[in-house]
Amino acid sequence: MNCHANKSIECTVSQCAHHCEQENYCSLDRILVGTHEANPTVDQCTDCMSFRKK
Ligand code: SF4
Repeated sequence: MNCHANKSIECTVSQCAHHCEQENYCSLDRILVGTHEANPTVDQCTDCMSFRKK
């Protein structure tokens, strides 16, 4: 598998095109995290905006 795992970005979203399948890391140099809530209160309120469907 030719995936450059960024050890600074752990991720378990294996459905994402940027996910390193063998390891739970993102392959991007950086990601953008955002929210879909007006007033985020828990981790479920945040989103990886760099997600791309496989
Ligand atoms: S872009 Fe976001 S969702 Fe996709 S592998 Fe990287 S951290 Fe995970």
